[in-house]
Amino acid sequence: MPAPKIQFLKGVGPKRAALLAELGVETPAGLLSYYPRTWQDRRLPGDSEKGTLLEEILVFRGKVLSAREVRTSKALTIFKAVLSNGKYEVEASWFKRFSWRYDVFASLRKEVREGAEIWIVGRPEDALFPGRIRVEEHYSAGPAAEAAHVGRIVPVYPLTEGLSGRFMREALLSALAEHGGAGPECLPDGLRARRALTSAAQAERGIHFPRSLFELEAARKRLAYEELFLLALAWGIKRRQLRAVEKEYRCELKRHLLTPFKEALAFEFTPSQKKVINEIFDDMLSPRPMARLLQGDVGSGKTVVALSALLLTAENGRQGLFMAPTEILAEQHALTFGRLLRGLPVRWALLTSSVKGPARRKILEDAAEGRLDILIGTHALIEEGVKLKNPGLVVVDEQHRFGVRQRAALRAKGDRTDALIMTATPIPRTLALALYGDLDVSTLTGMPPGRKPVKTESLSEEKAFREARLAASVGRQVYVVYPLIEESGTAGLKAVTLEFERLREIFKGYTLGILHGRMKPEEKRRTMEDFAAGRIRVLAATQVIEVGIDVPNATVMVVHNAERFGLSSLHQLRGRVGRGAHESRCLLVADLRDEGARERVQAMCSTTDGFIISEKDLALRGGGDPLGLRQHGDLDLRLADLSRDSALLRQAVEDRDAVLEKDPGLALPEHGPLKARLLALYGARWDLIELS
Ligand code: ADP
Ligand code: MG
Repeated sequence: MPAPKIQFLKGVGPKRAALLAELGVETPAGLLSYYPRTWQDRRLPGDSEKGTLLEEILVFRGKVLSAREVRTSKALTIFKAVLSNGKYEVEASWFKRFSWRYDVFASLRKEVREGAEIWIVGRPEDALFPGRIRVEEHYSAGPAAEAAHVGRIVPVYPLTEGLSGRFMREALLSALAEHGGAGPECLPDGLRARRALTSAAQAERGIHFPRSLFELEAARKRLAYEELFLLALAWGIKRRQLRAVEKEYRCELKRHLLTPFKEALAFEFTPSQKKVINEIFDDMLSPRPMARLLQGDVGSGKTVVALSALLLTAENGRQGLFMAPTEILAEQHALTFGRLLRGLPVRWALLTSSVKGPARRKILEDAAEGRLDILIGTHALIEEGVKLKNPGLVVVDEQHRFGVRQRAALRAKGDRTDALIMTATPIPRTLALALYGDLDVSTLTGMPPGRKPVKTESLSEEKAFREARLAASVGRQVYVVYPLIEESGTAGLKAVTLEFERLREIFKGYTLGILHGRMKPEEKRRTMEDFAAGRIRVLAATQVIEVGIDVPNATVMVVHNAERFGLSSLHQLRGRVGRGAHESRCLLVADLRDEGARERVQAMCSTTDGFIISEKDLALRGGGDPLGLRQHGDLDLRLADLSRDSALLRQAVEDRDAVLEKDPGLALPEHGPLKARLLALYGARWDLIELS
């Protein structure tokens, strides 16, 4: 039986059904799982509870004592009414744009007439006069309004042009009445009892029209838990499936490349690098495909770890892909690889969009015929479906910069080869789990020896430039970072191309270079090479220098409009300095009027530890959707909030382990509804093979 169409729900019709479709809602069941963005407490004062889930709003119920209209200007007209509830009087105002063509207040005049009993919902016109309310919604008193809109906790939905909150609440109420409670209970009873979770049917009602804050919290907890539990199950099953696969080959340590590589290195691996390399090699030597995430702060030395893995692959006659998120980075890596692989019999190539014509064809052919050991490039490599004769390993650098699509493509491709995913955004444990729950994790701790922590300060531009000139005068190099490329109309923000002439004055006598995302790849590459070789002393740039660029002689970074950068971006930027033996500084020129900006800058000045920074980042971004995870294509989290629900996530993972331990294929009858739900949600997305 096909699912009933939303169009036939009471009060909807074809026009609104089309608008609902824009929100992804096509059936009554779809509407029932279209959750509120927040809730407003529209009970009268006295009945209200304070709660973090509830948004504040003014509500008043009273009799209309008088009403009048005021034209304040050509354009604006106001309808004012005085209401009384017998104890208090308030003045309610409706603001409307005046029209010659029709009477903007026609319906209002009918509803808000003297003697009528009405509800108003709105905000104070002025914080000083709470008795003057700017009305957002009003309703005639009565059971119809009180069932859905006022006198209760009310859901607030994400809307689209043409659909009002009022309509959405009424539609949800009809959907609940006609189709509510139809979905099966997917959580096993034992689990629900142990975690004190309310039933699916109760949660469905409670998330939309809770009768109390308690009911709302219980509903949210149940549904958030369910989301996390299903996600954890999907990872768990994916993980098992992945590990059940055998690679067509398996690596052996031959050392004819690794030993000379290690001997030629200018440094020793740190203990942490050794440990991580061992973890990676263990995976690669095993018959199962590796699926490992390598986390390590900026500058912690991930590149040589990845290169070691690529060399192990090459020793075994297999080919490796190394993918960077941008062309600049791919080129920078090619320079590094060239340096580190000098003299070794390793065949490698760089493939970016600027490699064209016969050169490109040759690389593609060499890759397809097995004449290349390592191919470096951007994610275009997977999108274009580069063919390797003997794929052995895929390394993805700076994973956090990759989009969802690329990850999906990679997952599809990487299932039978080893995959090493690297990220320089140290992510708090719970987030790592949520994003990469199907991966094993290795973490590089600490920094290579001899690294001095970067001193970070918030300074005026003048002082910052003075410091920068001082560094330049003793031979060091400088980054000057701007938030914009060109003027964008955003007041107070500096743009790199506009400031460039002024910088020439300030750094008279030194060679300057400019780097931003709108330059041609060839120009960018030349600029980077010149900077790396020391031919450019001062590099003015946008955030494009954010990741991976490695110039040890650069010791000062000046960041303009630092208030506009997020904490993790600032931390990534700062990672460009402090990469050599010299003392380095990061100078933040920031407008500190905003409290959030003050806290971010303060955090930057007080620590250089990426894990602390990311915890702080998460805390400052607060609830809601900290990292855009709700839209993250791998996840389906609509109510769960990882910065708030980390305890719930831990429980979900624990319960997942217990369930899969007992019933790995979800074959028991009690797991039937769970399995159906899981496959519907994640089957295609995570490419889960039919469970049996
Ligand atoms: P990231 O983890 O940010 O990718 P890189 O791999 O670019 O860091 O390494 C940063 C710098 O540290 C590079 O110049 C690299 O050569 C150097 N490096 C890496 N490992 C060591 C080590 N064990 N001892 C000294 N320097 C190292
Ligand atoms: Mg790197």
